[in-house]
Amino acid sequence: MPIGRILYVEDNLENRILIKRVLEAEGYVVEEAPDGLTSIDMAMTNPPDLILMDINLPDIDGYEATTRLRRSASTAHVPIVALTANVMQGDRERSLKAGCDGYIPKPIDVDHLPAQVASYIEANDGRQRP
Ligand code: MN
Repeated sequence: MPIGRILYVEDNLENRILIKRVLEAEGYVVEEAPDGLTSIDMAMTNPPDLILMDINLPDIDGYEATTRLRRSASTAHVPIVALTANVMQGDRERSLKAGCDGYIPKPIDVDHLPAQVASYIEANDGRQRP
């Protein structure tokens, strides 16, 4: 039985193949969206346990996608973790302001990713418990 369902939003195919393999090996089901609008459709149709959100996308950026997901009742409480190659100082703040729960810098460290993902999902479980 899968331990969680993750929506991975990323326009780079090589990244998608790598990260999907890493997370599926841990027992997650990984769904992929290649752009921001597709990710919104997918997340609202079937809200996942976690969204990994690339920031630089071909249509709307990850900040805008996150803002829209936060406005929808069906996805308002889904944890969203920003993935970005931008290392500028304001980037983390911008992710959080858009509604992301956290931030993972790219290139992604695949040795640490499973623990990071697990901690974001666990934190959200705690928040939603009555
Ligand atoms: Mn990208």
